[in-house]
Amino acid sequence: MMNNKSNDMSKEEFKKHGYEFIDWIADYIDNIEDYDVLPKINPGDIKKQIPNSPPNAKDGFDTILDDVENKIARNLTHWNHPGFMAYFNSTSSGPGILAELLSSAFNINGMVWKSAPASVELEERMIEWLREFLNISNEFTGFIYDTASVSTMHAIAAARENLDLNIRQSGMSGRKDLPLLRIYISDQTHSSVEKSALTLGLGLASIKKIGTDENFSMNFDELKYEIEQDQSKGIIPLCVVATIGTTSSTAIDPINEIALLCNHKKIWLHVDSAHSGVTSSLPELNNIFEAWNKADSIVVNPHKWLFVPIDLSALYVKNADLLKRAFSLSAEYLKTEADDVAINYMDYGIQLGRRFRSIKLWFVFRYYGTDGLRKIISEHLKLGKQFEKWIDDHNVLEKLAPVNFSTICFRAKANNSMSEDELENFNKTLMDNINSTGKIFLTHTKLNGKFVIRLVVSGIRTTEKHTELAKKIIDEELIKLIESSRV
Ligand code: PLP
Repeated sequence: MMNNKSNDMSKEEFKKHGYEFIDWIADYIDNIEDYDVLPKINPGDIKKQIPNSPPNAKDGFDTILDDVENKIARNLTHWNHPGFMAYFNSTSSGPGILAELLSSAFNINGMVWKSAPASVELEERMIEWLREFLNISNEFTGFIYDTASVSTMHAIAAARENLDLNIRQSGMSGRKDLPLLRIYISDQTHSSVEKSALTLGLGLASIKKIGTDENFSMNFDELKYEIEQDQSKGIIPLCVVATIGTTSSTAIDPINEIALLCNHKKIWLHVDSAHSGVTSSLPELNNIFEAWNKADSIVVNPHKWLFVPIDLSALYVKNADLLKRAFSLSAEYLKTEADDVAINYMDYGIQLGRRFRSIKLWFVFRYYGTDGLRKIISEHLKLGKQFEKWIDDHNVLEKLAPVNFSTICFRAKANNSMSEDELENFNKTLMDNINSTGKIFLTHTKLNGKFVIRLVVSGIRTTEKHTELAKKIIDEELIKLIESSRV
């Protein structure tokens, strides 16, 4: 680009289409409520509209932009929609989107300091900014990975290295000297931990699921018992993964008790707070998070509730050398004169190539300021509490889990004649009918075997207008369904 002899787009063409594109994105975000949050399509509908083979001749940019509107935007689930209250949100803010554009314009590869000095050093600084914002102790250093799943996998790899079992050199297979290594999680822990066990060759046999109490928090006594049982059999505890804000119901495990036990027994503690971790920036929630500083590693995803476009996950570890010990492997062609004085991120994980993610966090922090970010997060918590009260006061709906942040688990109550299966079908239909309005999108989970609808308030565009609309739609669909069930 920018030069008529280059094979890239010309500067004139880039500017023309670039301005059109920015206009398109600005209109898309501004008019996002004109789209259904959840498109009314079936699997396969989109593929039918995309040719089987790439074009031989070049396509005009106008045609591409038309297709973006008609084939892509109309067929997406809109995570940026204020009515998206499903899963856990990941919304992109204006500054985040612009930073993402810049990231691909620079297109650096931050594998070693020399290959992208500003990217490497900005990442170091952003990890510090985020650590301060989240009130994480400066005993931790951190790394940016793509997702919480990958961050957690690295934390467990560091925990394994910490055991000094010579796994880096000898691996795990065919070793008679290696007992079972155990990872303790709760029955509410995110599946990414089991995936880490698969990836690291530990296998699902390494996972011990601890039961949870009426609040869906890990049962501490059972954890202690299981660890002691394992130790008496020669099984080595590898780590405990505790969660602040589980995926189903945002339950909080007893971090302080678990941390004291782990510290006493010298077992690695990893805290997963992928979604809810950002609320540690609020002084009033400090008590929930204080004890995570006793852990060995923590994961928080700015791409979930800090308005940074996916993907950007931050892993904090107290002993980063363990990651280096586990993963550092330098080839001659990657050696540089700065190796002894600068950080080479390729040494701290499985990937060599590394994109410029920290610039997104930099833009978001600078555009909103920490006060601005706290204000938005507080507003979400307030809206969550209002919604919880609405459920509590409702004569047909009931809450099925404590609301620790702004995720509310609820369902329609059974009437006398309904079996549990009928109730599940009723609630499933209710949720589908709510979603088919196109105005809001909710997803479900199961708690104690019961089908539960979840409503999450953590999208940057979600305001009181949208939570009020959600209440209205839920009520309307509930009444319609009750009436049609009577017929
Ligand atoms: N941990 C928790 C508690 C989550 O809720 C999620 C996803 O929602 C994850 C981990 C996995 O996140 P990611 O998609 O970034 O891998």
